[in-house]
Amino acid sequence: MTSPASPIWHPFTQHALTPDFPLVTHGEGAWLETKDGKLLDAISSWWVITHGHRHPRIVDAIKKQADALDQVIFANFTHQPAEDLARGLIEIVPPGLAHVFYSDSGSTSVEVALKMALGFWKNTGQARTKILALEHAYHGDTVGTMSAGARGVFNAAYDPLLFDVIRLPFPQGRGCAVLAALEDAAKDAAALIVEPLILGAGGMLTYDAELLRKMHALCKRHGTLFIADEVMTGFGRTGTLFACEQAGITPDILCIAKGLTGGSLPLAATLCTPQIFDAHYSTDRSRTFFHSSSFTANPIACAAACANLEIWRDEPVRERIAALAGAQEDRLAPFRADPRFADVRRLGTIAALDLKVPDPGYLAGLGPQLAAFFLERGVLLRPLGNTIYVMPPYCTTAAELGLVYDGIRAAAEKFA
Ligand SMILES: *Cc1c(COP(=O)(O)O)cnc(C)c1O
Repeated sequence: MTSPASPIWHPFTQHALTPDFPLVTHGEGAWLETKDGKLLDAISSWWVITHGHRHPRIVDAIKKQADALDQVIFANFTHQPAEDLARGLIEIVPPGLAHVFYSDSGSTSVEVALKMALGFWKNTGQARTKILALEHAYHGDTVGTMSAGARGVFNAAYDPLLFDVIRLPFPQGRGCAVLAALEDAAKDAAALIVEPLILGAGGMLTYDAELLRKMHALCKRHGTLFIADEVMTGFGRTGTLFACEQAGITPDILCIAKGLTGGSLPLAATLCTPQIFDAHYSTDRSRTFFHSSSFTANPIACAAACANLEIWRDEPVRERIAALAGAQEDRLAPFRADPRFADVRRLGTIAALDLKVPDPGYLAGLGPQLAAFFLERGVLLRPLGNTIYVMPPYCTTAAELGLVYDGIRAAAEKFA
């Protein structure tokens, strides 16, 4: 355990309730090593690690690139890893996306998407500025992304800074409601932003590909830009490389981050159609896309992402994903009949279930209690309130999953 005297202020952490935490020293495959023992990384280190920790090809690519070029300004300069990665991405994303804008986190990829959408409408001389978003959405923790995300305890203090969006009902079970609300609002909206098929931080809430397809078709009919935030779902999580594939749609703007480098380094990309790029393409400098961050397209991060694409190309990643999805289903199945749980669900490699408790609210603190309970058993899980979800790296074996689900069973004995 670390010293409580550490000067670090950790993210989403109430230091008064957890004065010290494990000091992690190594990562290998699905495992983390701490000063006190081993931990099974059942949430892929906050949803980012796809193939496993320290995949040798990614590690090699990082070492090699660090020896050649560490960082360079990306405005009016370029470098080979960024060029190779952009071409590689265009080949694998849904067809029709033609341009790649780099940034360095999921939140910034979404901020970029929102700015691209507004820039498109401004530069084409049309007064569309409204953003549509789903109930329970999560798009990040910067001011723009909090605005698009659900409002609650997480952002109440910052509410005066947040811009208004038009909130649409969560699709599943109320498909007609979301489509009716969208039909109403889409006519003069700038863009709809969605997490395709599954809302992550909002509680691992799933909805059908058919509803996704219909929302997309409706936006298309009204000329409203469709932004797919695949920051969590991208790179295989939902069973396909991108969740949009399951609906057969190409968004106008696609956000990717977490799994882009296999989870090894921070890097994000916002991809868009020629239409959006062309609206900014002009000899008139006032039409420039005015966005950058210092580390845009960091060469080492881009090299890691190129290695990730090679892994997808050369290794049986899809088979691993199918095997993990099957193993998740096998372990999850008994819980479907367990009255202590509700909404037992799975999408691709992601499994989730809600522990029935009298007060499931976030501030009730069940999440941290459950997390501490799993930690004691050598399993890293971080429940969202009473929603326990399992989102492990693709190298995780059925036996390793057994440890996770034994822990969940034991948690039910203790907490339900
Ligand atoms: C994690 C996440 C983000 C934010 O990504 P960061 O890299 O944490 O900024 C945005 N959208 C979705 C759907 C996410 O899951």
